[in-house]
Amino acid sequence: MNWKTNPNIAALRPYTPGKPIEELAREYGLNEADIVKLASNENPLGMSAKALSKMQKTAQSANFYPDGNSFELKKCLAEFYAVKSEQLVLGNGSNDVLDLIARTFLAPDKEAIFSEYAFAVYPIVTQLQNATAVITPANDWGHDLDAMLAAITGSTSVIFVANPNNPTGTMFGKTELEAFLAKVPERIIVVLDEAYSEYLVSNEQYPQGVSYLSQYTNLIVTRTFSKIYGLAGLRIGYGICSPEIAELLNRARQPFNVNLVAQEAAIESLNDNDFVKQAIAINTSGLRQLEAAFDEMRITYIPSKANFITFEITNAAEINEKLMQQGVIVRPLAGYKMPNHLRVSVGSAEQNQRFIDVLKGILV
Ligand SMILES: *Cc1c(COP(=O)(O)O)cnc(C)c1O
Repeated sequence: MNWKTNPNIAALRPYTPGKPIEELAREYGLNEADIVKLASNENPLGMSAKALSKMQKTAQSANFYPDGNSFELKKCLAEFYAVKSEQLVLGNGSNDVLDLIARTFLAPDKEAIFSEYAFAVYPIVTQLQNATAVITPANDWGHDLDAMLAAITGSTSVIFVANPNNPTGTMFGKTELEAFLAKVPERIIVVLDEAYSEYLVSNEQYPQGVSYLSQYTNLIVTRTFSKIYGLAGLRIGYGICSPEIAELLNRARQPFNVNLVAQEAAIESLNDNDFVKQAIAINTSGLRQLEAAFDEMRITYIPSKANFITFEITNAAEINEKLMQQGVIVRPLAGYKMPNHLRVSVGSAEQNQRFIDVLKGILV
């Protein structure tokens, strides 16, 4: 075609999501009920029962537009984090917030720094602005914050760091983050992507990004309802930052980017402590279950602080194919330049066991 395609789009390599259950069932002639999906770090517990019943009620009002300013949800989040509502920006998933950040602070003459093996959305939102991606080498699969500092130039405008990181599950501690933040010039936006932070509430080494906001006006902490709260399908996430930055990001936002049902479900989820506790418990025991199985099979894995484990396996593509043939969906990581690794999400004890048994069967 002779369409004058935007070059940013022409050069874009789109995100490859975990394969949906329906798709695998279609392609491999399997029964949906026999398929276990451990590919997208979804919550095996489902979601808060209170959130579900609120969603069902709210669905009846779907003829109305949502509150474009998400007043009630912002009020709840502001209370939850002891920040002001003006410090919040809501997104259609935190991916939307990452895109808003790129649209607000990146441009063709600007650079975004992120690490090798970092979350796949950073290169995408950077490319969409035709900005330059500066990719720093990883250190033992994790972010090398010193390498990121060393990569700063006069053109750097955003640094993306995920803690813990996806797909490696690695985490950096308070000391490292504090030293890093102190050295990043204030003109540069630091995005601290905390999609899995709720799993780490009782980890004393883990730096909860919100506690640094009063000190650093260039810091944006992003969080999501997709992971521990189990609302991935509703698409809702948020950023917490200085009111000045939030005001800029909110200008770039679509007026109704967060839907009505998602806003109401998020409010209920945020206050359902019991559900969060259960989710942490099932995740912790699931991590131990998977680690023990990998140890037994002599499979090397990257120790994870999140709700998935990335493990090393030769012929990863072939093993992935065999897993799929037997109804187990995990996440291949060739797109992350990790062709010899697969990532498995922590499921229920039964789902984890199904994955373990099928993998063992393949490897004998
Ligand atoms: C899952 C994940 C997100 C969340 O994306 P949503 O758009 O909120 O579903 C963000 N960052 C990282 C690193 C993730 O793994």
